[in-house]
Amino acid sequence: MGDMVVVRKEGLYCVPGDFYIDPWRPVARAVITHAHGDHARVGHGHYLAATPGIGVLKSRLGDISVDALEYGEKIVHNGVTISLHPAGHVLGSSQVRMECGGEVWVASGDYKVEPDKTCAPFEPVRCDTFITESTFGLPIYRWQPEAQLMEEINAWWRKNAEEGRCSVVFAYSFGKAQRILAGLDPSIGPIVCHGSVEPLNRAYRAEGVDIPPTVLVTDIEKAALRRALVVAPPSASGSTWMKRFGDYSDSFASGWMLLRGARRRRGVDRGFVLSDHADWPGLMSAIKATEAQRVIVTHGSIPTLVRWLCQNGLDASGFETEYGDEEEDESTPPAGAAASKEADA
Ligand SMILES: [Zn+2]
Ligand SMILES: [Zn+2]
Repeated sequence: MGDMVVVRKEGLYCVPGDFYIDPWRPVARAVITHAHGDHARVGHGHYLAATPGIGVLKSRLGDISVDALEYGEKIVHNGVTISLHPAGHVLGSSQVRMECGGEVWVASGDYKVEPDKTCAPFEPVRCDTFITESTFGLPIYRWQPEAQLMEEINAWWRKNAEEGRCSVVFAYSFGKAQRILAGLDPSIGPIVCHGSVEPLNRAYRAEGVDIPPTVLVTDIEKAALRRALVVAPPSASGSTWMKRFGDYSDSFASGWMLLRGARRRRGVDRGFVLSDHADWPGLMSAIKATEAQRVIVTHGSIPTLVRWLCQNGLDASGFETEYGDEEEDESTPPAGAAASKEADA
């Protein structure tokens, strides 16, 4: 038997199953790992995704024909047994397990190993071939525990509030924003969300995720903004929407904030290193836990990770994909950062 999954111009293709995984061009049947824009696109004939992610998927793609699969539930399609397993990346994110003729392949989509309160934790799945992302696939990328980072964010907010200054956190609307919200201490002050964040908060709450109360900027007294924390997408930075917050302090939350100069390039006061992707030790532990002998690396630092895996006795290679070409997930390095990947000490 040839390879179970190959790359076609439309996307990752499961040959015996005749379906695609996160295709970037319109296809008849698509299995979607999660609802970030570079993985979930409009125009496919039929979609399959994990149950907790259906609400977000529909809110972003509109009226699509979609089947929901519970995590761990199995279906057989053209002789391929398909199941979805938590990827720990965002609400409803999954790894796709495919079994055919006694062979098992797993396509990870985007994943994060450290558990958080906003989605099901990453589940290692044993397989023969593991298709992995490598957004932060360099040894310099090591995240501090989330609880510690949230303490830093809350301390920064508390200090600004005491000084009568509004705090603004720029974070991607889907996933990162809700993770920050879930870790905030609402006793410090009101929490304001940008209009693009609020629909996603609703989708998370509908799935039972504990997000503290949030308001739109139109629903809050101007004076109260001085103690508020505002969560807004990076695209709001520098827009007229920001003017109402007066003399505010701003920050950016992303794994890329580990890079020297990234905070300055964003022009913000603070950089918080918080990522929805696995760091280098996370990638290592996830790959090891699959017990796969063959690893195929998609978007990110492909050559570095492939070289490292080959040196460690695995059969590793890369796939050319179109993931990470949209600004809404951190898969895209900030402009200028790719060439200078030195970390601040
Ligand atoms: Zn993603
Ligand atoms: Zn991605």
